[in-house]
Amino acid sequence: MDTDILIVGAGPVGLFLANECARRSLRYRIIEARATQSEHSKALAIFPRTLEVFDMAGVVAPFLERANRVTSVAVITHGQSLAHMRFAPEESPYPFIAMVPQDVTEKVLLDALRSKGGDVEYETAFLTATEQNGKVDVVVNRDGVEGSILLPT
Ligand SMILES: Cc1cc2nc3c(=O)[nH]c(=O)nc-3n(C[C@H](O)[C@H](O)[C@H](O)COP(=O)(O)OP(=O)(O)OC[C@H]3O[C@@H](n4cnc5c(N)ncnc54)[C@H](O)[C@@H]3O)c2cc1C
Repeated sequence: MDTDILIVGAGPVGLFLANECARRSLRYRIIEARATQSEHSKALAIFPRTLEVFDMAGVVAPFLERANRVTSVAVITHGQSLAHMRFAPEESPYPFIAMVPQDVTEKVLLDALRSKGGDVEYETAFLTATEQNGKVDVVVNRDGVEGSILLPT
């Protein structure tokens, strides 16, 4: 078998999973169709529970360093205030929304993965997976060439 766990996609979810696998010394690989990480921000708001999970995973510090901490939100239209919501849950050690652009989130998680000795296999796209005789045969396209990765079921 080539690996026990195959993670497809190095977005925030895939990179977080890879960090968790590395932290637990699991045999994993992470593949990404793109040549590099995206430089565009999509998700921006990280909520307290996610920060608590990042803390448990040992990756919260770089997020806290970079975050713009938001504790209230105002809705204003044509100069008129429509709503003002406070957001500071007392039950969390992180009573704020951490505003971190998604490309920064990905960079932080990639740096954390590399510091654990891991890395992303770029330009490697998942094509198909077939289960047979106790194994899964995953076909990938690596830089224009088809290849196979074998996993246990
Ligand atoms: C325009 C836009 C604005 C958004 N704004 C917000 C926001 O303000 N707040 C918020 O919370 N969320 C927002 N989102 C949603 C947020 O971006 C997603 O929830 C988040 O990206 C999901 O993370 P992910 O890791 O699951 O997937 P993705 O970030 O989509 O990452 C998936 C990765 O898998 C790779 N991939 C895909 N197919 C393959 C394959 N076959 N083989 C190998 N690699 C593959 C992709 O290239 C990509 O890098 C927005 C999304 C968009 C599109």
